[in-house]
Amino acid sequence: MNAPLPVEVLKQHLIDPEICIRCNTCEETCPVDAITHHSNNYVVDPEICNGCMACVPPCPTGSIDNWRLVVRAEAYSVQDQLGWEELPQEKPLPVDAAAGGEGGQPMPAPQPESGLAQAPAVTAATPGAAVPPWSAAHPYVNLYTHKTPITATVVGNYRVTGADTESDIHHIVLDFGEQPFPVLEGQSIGILPPGVDALGRPHHARQYSLASPRDGERAGYNNLSLTVKRVTQDHGGAAAHGVCSNYLCDLAKNDTVQVIGPFGHTFLMPNHPQANLIMICTGTGSAPMRAMTERSRRLIGTADIGKLMLFFGARTERELPYFGPLMKLPRDFIDINLALSREPGQPKRYVQDLIRERAAHVRGLLADRNTCIYVCGLKGMEVGVLDALRDVVVQSGEDWSILHDALRREGRLHFETY
Ligand code: NAP
Repeated sequence: MNAPLPVEVLKQHLIDPEICIRCNTCEETCPVDAITHHSNNYVVDPEICNGCMACVPPCPTGSIDNWRLVVRAEAYSVQDQLGWEELPQEKPLPVDAAAGGEGGQPMPAPQPESGLAQAPAVTAATPGAAVPPWSAAHPYVNLYTHKTPITATVVGNYRVTGADTESDIHHIVLDFGEQPFPVLEGQSIGILPPGVDALGRPHHARQYSLASPRDGERAGYNNLSLTVKRVTQDHGGAAAHGVCSNYLCDLAKNDTVQVIGPFGHTFLMPNHPQANLIMICTGTGSAPMRAMTERSRRLIGTADIGKLMLFFGARTERELPYFGPLMKLPRDFIDINLALSREPGQPKRYVQDLIRERAAHVRGLLADRNTCIYVCGLKGMEVGVLDALRDVVVQSGEDWSILHDALRREGRLHFETY
């Protein structure tokens, strides 16, 4: 009698729909376009995924780092996954598959949720680092999930852009009272807007970066702040009502909000003495820069803080969030460079233009291994900022690709763009 053919086993890559915050990072990162989504879920196509792991380190929640051993012919299809509300349980493999696996070799056991333990995959699709700077504090992530959110109370909500401008940007302060919610600058949280979507399902969480430092919007209080722009148009300029941004901007003091998170384990600031920060942001992408700047400001006089250089892009001065408080910061503490794109009577300027104008300073900081670079804001700025940094380096006869690799390997170049 012929022996049965060994059953081919696949270590199938899956995304946990209960933890995923639908931020699109994985889909953008995947070098082979194996990740797709519809209004409910982000999913991995088993026909395309090659297990390269490029998507794992950038995922802020770790929801991407799930694996199931399945018989290849019975792999969960894209259609199956799109309908999931939660991950399926691990199924026992047929005896011949578990013992034999592909080509008769024993299959490795499924790995634990292990994104952080993996060697970070640095690919052309990930212009930034997949690891934090060496001296970053250790972050907590996923303490609260869609199923177990935490309730915060609104203790402040005010507009931080000119009242007569189109950009209605709010500074919102949330207090957690006696409940633990430890955070670091550069992390984000998810807000669960009340109500249901067009299909009658509860809304998914929306992600916002912290605008306050680890010890609270008010130092020593268990609170944090967000920078939220009221969305009234889609990317194409057509009228659109942002579900969560409008909910948040309309909150009153003492209202309560459902929060999940914290998220993020790489976009973190260095903690060692004389660490320099180059911060490059547009619009509400300024939130983490405010957090890092405030953290550094609170350390003045108690620690040996390095240099801070900020490139901040906005349409006009009055549409630049936190313009007033920012301009009051001492110039020997932070080197502020504002790129205004629609200021009447002034030429249109983007952050990348100013990086080139300040080439000598930027180059000096880049030459120092204590310098970390953070880029946050519009997706479109990513390429422009990378080109500007490359030009600054190449002008001095150095090789950008060598420095770029080192910045990523050493956790010194970080992007958070949407
Ligand atoms: P915005 O007002 O639309 O734009 C800010 C500035 O960036 C404007 O001067 C704009 O110039 C300029 N800009 C446009 N394209 C650019 C490019 N390719 N390179 C460089 N600068 C460019 O910005 P926003 O509406 O506040 O958007 C901020 C972004 O940050 C959003 O995508 C948001 O999702 C993201 N973000 C927000 C948070 C948060 O916590 N709220 C956190 C992380 C990221 P123009 O005059 O040409 O428009």
